[in-house]
Amino acid sequence: MTRPLSCRFCHRELTHTFVDLGRTPLANSYLREERDIAREKSYPLHARVCDGCFLVQVEDVVPATEIFSDYAYFSSYSSSWVEHARRYAEKMITALDLGPASLVAEIASNDGYLLRHFVEKGIPVLGIEPAANVAKVAEDAGVRTDVAFFGVETAKRLTASGPRADLMAANNVMAHVPDINDFIGGVPILLNEEGVFTIEFPHLLNLIEKVQFDTIYHEHYSYLSLLTVEKILAAHGLRVFDVEELATHGGSLRIHACHQASKKHLETDRLTALRVKEAAAGMGTLAAYEGFTPKVEHVRDQLLAFLQQAKAAGKKVAAYGAAAKGNTLLNFCHIGPELIEYVVDRNPEKQGTFLPGSHIPVFDPAKIRAEKPDYVLILPWNLADEISRDMADIRAWGGQFAIPIPTLTILP
Ligand SMILES: [Zn+2]
Repeated sequence: MTRPLSCRFCHRELTHTFVDLGRTPLANSYLREERDIAREKSYPLHARVCDGCFLVQVEDVVPATEIFSDYAYFSSYSSSWVEHARRYAEKMITALDLGPASLVAEIASNDGYLLRHFVEKGIPVLGIEPAANVAKVAEDAGVRTDVAFFGVETAKRLTASGPRADLMAANNVMAHVPDINDFIGGVPILLNEEGVFTIEFPHLLNLIEKVQFDTIYHEHYSYLSLLTVEKILAAHGLRVFDVEELATHGGSLRIHACHQASKKHLETDRLTALRVKEAAAGMGTLAAYEGFTPKVEHVRDQLLAFLQQAKAAGKKVAAYGAAAKGNTLLNFCHIGPELIEYVVDRNPEKQGTFLPGSHIPVFDPAKIRAEKPDYVLILPWNLADEISRDMADIRAWGGQFAIPIPTLTILP
């Protein structure tokens, strides 16, 4: 794809690098057979920052329609995420006094993991979900779902035939949207005059501070701060009035917004505080972004030194968790089976495959107990507590856990 690189929000030319992670295959393209390795395709993974709006973004090398039309991810598989959704629903029902005459809409409603909590309370809902296979699961569970990508046209079609929403939610979807203006442009059309729109997304400030560069992959087009989201919403007649800091996905924000003209929703102190925090971190200047690459290189150098020393000492190293973020890390560091013999994962779909790019084979976690490696590198750092607890018995043979991010840590 050779179009001039311009910001997907403000269209300014993108000339500043946030971090260039080289060429890698798509993070979720696991290889079924060894012979697939020869046919593997890779694409540039280069995150840039816009000097106008400070949106951090990667090029869309793969169209969203290809990734999200037949999606294999069902939100309800994660019990902690379902619980997170339930608490949100209870809170919003009370805060907005929602009832049988209200409408709650969710963009990228997946299998209805969130809206089902409103349905249980007799509140009408409307899910909007592009993956027909996932939407079908929601419909079967009693969550009314429209199969579509959200944007201006979809919002117009839905309001032509039905009421506008009192509450709209968009969780972990904004990063996946190629045309961010069309996406947010649909919100004021579907949202009631005094309605509330909430968005959740991993916080860019957190990504920078905790060096979570492994959360950058081709399917995540945008990396968002409060500062930039406020600019994007304002361009579409919306204003932020509240923000919550959440622990999900290694540190997320939940922003509450309304129509610019709304008189009902007053700005909260925690919104002011977070604006101050981002400003103090320099999020409104290029300096905050340009210092990121050296931090990423430091993580890489530390990890490579550790693996090479372990190898020289005759130690065996395996990895746990064949997640997308692990692939970004391994491929950026050029780590293959010569340094990490194998990776284990509980997902049977991934067992028997090879990781994209690094071609490290994936096995059932039982292999760790059979082979007794000296070190187990935990790739999904967000699950480090859970994994080190589940696999605590590696200590019986003197095995140790290592966590690569934000700084290489060997657990005692
Ligand atoms: Zn921009």
